[in-house]
Amino acid sequence: MTNSTPLAVLEHVFGYHQFRGNQAAVIDTLVAGDDALVLMPTGGGKSLCYQIPSLVREGTGVIISPLIALMQDQVSALEELGVRAGYLNSTLSSQQVWQTELALQRGELDLLYVAPERLLQERTLDLLHNSRIALFAIDEAHCVAQWGHDFRADYLRLDILHRVFPQVPRIALTATADVRTRAEIIERLGLAEARQFISGFDRPNIQYRIQQKNNPRQQLLRFLREEQKDNAGIVYCLSRNKVEQTAAWLCGEGIEALPYHAGLPAETRAANQHRFLREEGLVMVATIAFGMGIDKPDVRFVAHLDLPKSIEAYYQETGRAGRDGQAATALLLYGLEDVVKLRQMMGNSEGNEQFKRHEQQRLQAMLGLCEITTCRRQTLLRYFGDNLDEPCGNCDCCLTPPETWDATEAVRMALSCVYRTNQRFGANHVIDVLRGSENERLMSLGHNHVSTYGIGKHLSADEWRSVFRQLVARGYLDVDPDGYGSLQLNDGCRAMLRGEETIRMRRESRTTGQQQSRRPAVDIAPEDLGLWHALRACRKTLAEAQGVPPYVIFHDATLR
Ligand code: ADP
Ligand code: MG
Repeated sequence: MTNSTPLAVLEHVFGYHQFRGNQAAVIDTLVAGDDALVLMPTGGGKSLCYQIPSLVREGTGVIISPLIALMQDQVSALEELGVRAGYLNSTLSSQQVWQTELALQRGELDLLYVAPERLLQERTLDLLHNSRIALFAIDEAHCVAQWGHDFRADYLRLDILHRVFPQVPRIALTATADVRTRAEIIERLGLAEARQFISGFDRPNIQYRIQQKNNPRQQLLRFLREEQKDNAGIVYCLSRNKVEQTAAWLCGEGIEALPYHAGLPAETRAANQHRFLREEGLVMVATIAFGMGIDKPDVRFVAHLDLPKSIEAYYQETGRAGRDGQAATALLLYGLEDVVKLRQMMGNSEGNEQFKRHEQQRLQAMLGLCEITTCRRQTLLRYFGDNLDEPCGNCDCCLTPPETWDATEAVRMALSCVYRTNQRFGANHVIDVLRGSENERLMSLGHNHVSTYGIGKHLSADEWRSVFRQLVARGYLDVDPDGYGSLQLNDGCRAMLRGEETIRMRRESRTTGQQQSRRPAVDIAPEDLGLWHALRACRKTLAEAQGVPPYVIFHDATLR
């Protein structure tokens, strides 16, 4: 197969006529022997990025993938195209392993798929040493990120490739990596020298819709019956129990649904996955155990009955919809009870304090996405460092703008308090200051002398948390990723603090009694801040008189 050009291989082997997006540039990089880091959305065409250079270069392309269940399918599909492919994982008999190893040594394989734990065995490394290797592809490279949702310890050891086979080009690929995960991949896999190819993260054919739960089953049923009749889709639930209950209930409602979670026998899982891929119009009710690497192009919807624990997870899971480019819907139903449940799960999880803090921050970001009132797509893309100039016009916020309140003054209070406490604290602490909490830590830090102490008593702590989440989601505030999640002002804040901008925020629905009782006894509506308006009148004069920067609104004197 060597001596062909990438384009010739694309046409003659795969039957396509042109490369998509960054494919050609990625392939050229590897063919030239250099390393690459590829970020491309699900369905973007990552596989060809390593398959074609493996065919063009001398030797076998070795693909490391955690998706053991899919290797057989992938290899069969390649064999149908005339590509000589094999795989090594724990599902093979020793006879099959031996045959594949022999084929590799004899140079009879174009592509070899290997599970990470298998690759790291001495036997396999020795074998690779004695074979000719075209490249190493590390698929689903975000599995190396310890703070990510798919972390696999074996991936951490893949830096061995770099040291043992310095001459062999490597390519790491993933569909999901925010800036932090990206940095972790580069560091842990030793890819500082690699060329980076970051494709747009936008999936324009996916409609994003996020609703509060009030009667989730009825909300789902209406969605399935009225909009998704006979369509294939995935319904994600947090727990195995809920997966089984939901699948059974859907079947009772006349909707053909299958359960999938890691607690089911392997045969049941395989059978259900097989049916979902082959038959039309099935609904898969699953935990997140289902989906990574599933290549079913006509998944018309992904519905979440519970809140995903991060935006990355949400993006990855919703990304399984509409891989064929046709219109698809991502529906998420969330409630504050999800947050409580996720917090509990995180609290019980293993990992050090820093790990837990990171998880909390990711959860807060996810909630921020739920609560924003502006374009979902813009917010989602901003999270991945991608930009969309105009609102998308297709998400629920664009189509049916949510009910909002004028949060301008509350936001000024919030931003001023962040500034006045020197941008050194996380949201919870800043909220304590705003609400004038009398806890010891606050007192010992002397915060009751800070000018913003106690000015925000009219909002409950939950309401303030929502304000802060929305500020972070909209890019007014940054959360310091490496420290304790301290909030920092962005340039975008200045206009706000100078009083040149107003801001509206999603009105929290106050349907649950629990929330009701946590509200302060004197319930001042956020938009009716009489006291605040009175204070505001003298603020400017004072600020001018004392020469403080114009965008700092508060001064001690105004509040004493
Ligand atoms: P990813 O791994 O990025 O999620 P895949 O590599 O599985 O995506 O590709 C998704 C689909 O797009 C596959 O069906 C693949 O055959 C198709 N595809 C990839 N590249 C091209 C191309 N250049 N032209 C046409 N189809 C392509
Ligand atoms: Mg893939």
